Parts: sequence; C-alpha cells; structure tokens
Amino acid sequence: MSVFNLNIQNESTGNKIVAGLERLSHVFKTLLWEKAKEYGLSPVQIQIMIFVHYHSPEKNTVSYLAKEFSITKPTVSDAVKILEQKKLLQKINDAADSRSFYLHLTDSGKKIVHETEDFTNPISHLLSGISGAEQELLWGTISGIIVKLNRQGVIKVQRACKNCRHFSIDDNTYFCGLLKQPLAIADLRIDCHEFSEAV
Ligand code: SF4
Repeated sequence: MSVFNLNIQNESTGNKIVAGLERLSHVFKTLLWEKAKEYGLSPVQIQIMIFVHYHSPEKNTVSYLAKEFSITKPTVSDAVKILEQKKLLQKINDAADSRSFYLHLTDSGKKIVHETEDFTNPISHLLSGISGAEQELLWGTISGIIVKLNRQGVIKVQRACKNCRHFSIDDNTYFCGLLKQPLAIADLRIDCHEFSEAV
C-alpha cells in the first residue's frame, strides 16, 4: 500500500493524514535549509547547535546526537569538525573520563543559534490562530504518535512523560511524581530536562 498512490491516498482519512504529515516534514526541511544557506552551514550543523544549546552536557556527545537525529556517528563527527573549524563549537574534556568529551557552544555559536532557531516560526504563527481546545487535541495525538514510534524503535531517543519513571496514571489522570502534580494533555512533554527513563 502506498499513500502516494492518489487512489489509495484519497480513499481514507488516515491515508490523507499520513500524506499530509509527509508534506509537513518537507516544510520543516525547507525552512531549515533556507536558514542554513543564509549562514553557509548545513541543516544538520544548525540542528546540532540548537540541540547542544538547550541540553545538558551528558547529552551533548557524538553518540547521543547520532541517536537523537538518527544519523551515523561519522556524520555527526564531520559536522562537529566543521563547526569547530568555524569556531562555533568546542569540545570540552569530561573531567571524569579523559577519553570522553562533550560539546559546548562558543559565543559565536550561541549567536548563530539565536539567529536561526526561529526557522519554525511560520508554523508557530499558523498554530496561534487555532483555538486552545484544538491545539490540545492535536497535541494529544502528536505526542501519542511520537511515544508509539519511540516504542517501535523508529524514533530512537525521546524524553517524553509517558516513558518517564516519574509518570503514572491513576484513575485516568496522568501524574508527575517529580513535579508532584497532575498532568493535563497540554502538560505532557516530549522533551523534559528532568526525564528519567522508566525501567
Ligand atoms: S519528570 Fe518531566 S518527563 Fe517525567 S513525568 Fe515529570 S514532566 Fe514528564
């Protein structure tokens, strides 16, 4: 079955949703490409810098980034090498293990992040025109799909509530044991600094 076959695509809402999501993925790629070209960088170099800026050192390693973006370690290493040469990123030796290092942005790198991270703004502006109830419905569906894809191994890394050891469900109410508060659909996260993988 192919959702690109228009007869198949147009015969079910599910197939049209898949085709629509695929179309949206191109929009994000295009928006990122436009920013990347402006700065003489590749999309993955920008993605790495944005990720490093917002995540803690133990996640800012070549191995973790490779899993995060579903690319190979040599691809991450090549991107990091160029970012180092451009003095946008530096390697910091891990005090606990001299063979390991994590990545850290230079001031110039932070400036580039600041100037490029708004590549998603056209989508944000669109969503701001949708009601809170519609956004919540959409978020419940999208976050649920992400969690399921992670459990199937399609998305390798994520830090979502439903996979966190602090998450529980009681009487159909979601709860975060760390924040000690109930979680409405709108509160569910797909990336949380306090995430700790459930065992
Ligand atoms: S710690 Fe973060 S990821 Fe875990 S349940 Fe609480 S809010 Fe969700």
